[in-house]
Amino acid sequence: MAKVVILGSASAIADEKHENTHLAIVGNETTLIDCVGTPTVRLRKAGIELSSINDLIVTHFHPDHVSGVPLLLMNMWLLGRQEPLRIYGLHHCLERLEDMMASYHWDNWPEFFPVAFHRLPERARVTVLQKDDYRVYSSPVRHLVPTIGLRIEGQSRGRAVAYSCDTEPAPSVIDLASGADVLIHEASGGGVGHSTAEQAGAAAHEAEVGRLLLIHYPTLGVDLSELVTQARHTFEGEVAVAEDLMEIEI
Ligand SMILES: [Zn+2]
Repeated sequence: MAKVVILGSASAIADEKHENTHLAIVGNETTLIDCVGTPTVRLRKAGIELSSINDLIVTHFHPDHVSGVPLLLMNMWLLGRQEPLRIYGLHHCLERLEDMMASYHWDNWPEFFPVAFHRLPERARVTVLQKDDYRVYSSPVRHLVPTIGLRIEGQSRGRAVAYSCDTEPAPSVIDLASGADVLIHEASGGGVGHSTAEQAGAAAHEAEVGRLLLIHYPTLGVDLSELVTQARHTFEGEVAVAEDLMEIEI
């Protein structure tokens, strides 16, 4: 049975209990959604084998979403990986990721495994991955740089999980989340390129999802139960705060 694992739930400033927001889809193979911190440590905590990861989706080029990529690649290489790794994202993000790796002279790392970059078109409901047990679709959302949100559909149980990624309220988020069992929506606060918990609730209401999980929230000096209360102003369904290592079956 495939599942979505919350590997981190904090917005840009992580703390002891909340790593920056990133996720994994675990099935027969694992797909990472963004990569931060010291990836091997967090993956070990989640019980995910490094060798099960064949695909990495990068949502956008901000440090709190992609800063762990060079270390992930280096660790895979040092552990003797030979299998190819596929990385998916918008051109804006992949171009910068390649530049970042070039700064580390990865072309000089002996016997480095193949990495294939797949540029996703900047349009709605693009099919990113079709596995036996889950599928992933992307749509552009509204953030400070080109960014994608995702919809993940499990094949055996037919459950759908949408992830807003970093965004201000946008019709594409409603579309991605339409009728989903769970919407994982950011709640970093109002302002350009982000959303409040109340706006996350409004998206959950409009998309008619079953459950709302708030993520990418500020951890310093914020009362998390207050975030849930705010989301309940606009969404009548179940609301909770995503916590690190939480799992959602799909
Ligand atoms: Zn961002």
